Amino acid sequence: MVAGARQNYASRLAQDGLDLIEGEAHFTGPKFEGSHLLSAIGRIPNTEALTLEAAGIRLNDHGFIEVDEYLETSVPGVYAMGDVKGGPAFTHLSYDDYRILHANLIGHEKASTRDRIVPYTVFIDPQLGRAGMTEREARAQGRAIQVAKLPMSAVIRAVETGETRGFMKAVVDADSGQILGCTVLGSEGGEIMTMIQVAMLGKLTHTAMADAIFTHPLLAEGLNTLFAMFDA
Ligand SMILES: Cc1cc2nc3c(=O)[nH]c(=O)nc-3n(C[C@H](O)[C@H](O)[C@H](O)COP(=O)(O)OP(=O)(O)OC[C@H]3O[C@@H](n4cnc5c(N)ncnc54)[C@H](O)[C@@H]3O)c2cc1C
Repeated sequence: MVAGARQNYASRLAQDGLDLIEGEAHFTGPKFEGSHLLSAIGRIPNTEALTLEAAGIRLNDHGFIEVDEYLETSVPGVYAMGDVKGGPAFTHLSYDDYRILHANLIGHEKASTRDRIVPYTVFIDPQLGRAGMTEREARAQGRAIQVAKLPMSAVIRAVETGETRGFMKAVVDADSGQILGCTVLGSEGGEIMTMIQVAMLGKLTHTAMADAIFTHPLLAEGLNTLFAMFDA
């Protein structure tokens, strides 16, 4: 999977399927070979016909409606929610936008999008689940972190079921031990990531996860091993 590729050049080989070269035809970067090519080129918002500028509602360069952390547009009292506001396009995020708007329009306390953890699962085989900060994002912010990565081949249930592809990875704050983010690529990766996400919501530390008793032999048992990899 090549994320964020701007332009691809693919040539069909006579017998060997596709030969994908990232970038222009003359690009000398990494070369990938495979039998199929799926190109995910993104989506555009359906805002053009609405002439929102006439109402003073600002759009960004890609046509998405600009909102603040309360989902309010550039016109006070007018809100936008879901895909049309840009950012990650997920059903669960659109649902959560409803929670924010409900609170801000008829609730008693203001709700913000600022600190929400936005997880996602890519339904490839095996699944890829992600939540919170990536290692790169945490390092870019200059945070002191610890990182642990466990191959699925070290998870007993994965060995038993014969699906040992992938890994579990967690990023924790070096000072507090709190979990900042996780990636699980593997069998039921989205479900396992969600367990770690719940721990993040509860602000559990890596020690709490290492010491918790998880049923043997579940995939979740691998979380004991993953979080035991951190320095105490
Ligand atoms: C192929 C595909 C697979 C996806 N799989 C997943 C997934 O597995 N998990 C996940 O979380 N997300 C997935 N998504 C993304 C998810 O569908 C969107 O994030 C979600 O539907 C956004 O909800 P929304 O209410 O903001 O917009 P939408 O669901 O797009 O709803 C917008 C509605 O507004 C209507 N509309 C548009 N213009 C006008 C107009 N001018 N006047 C009146 N009505 C209008 C549209 O007809 C539509 O009914 C997938 C998307 C696609 C395309």
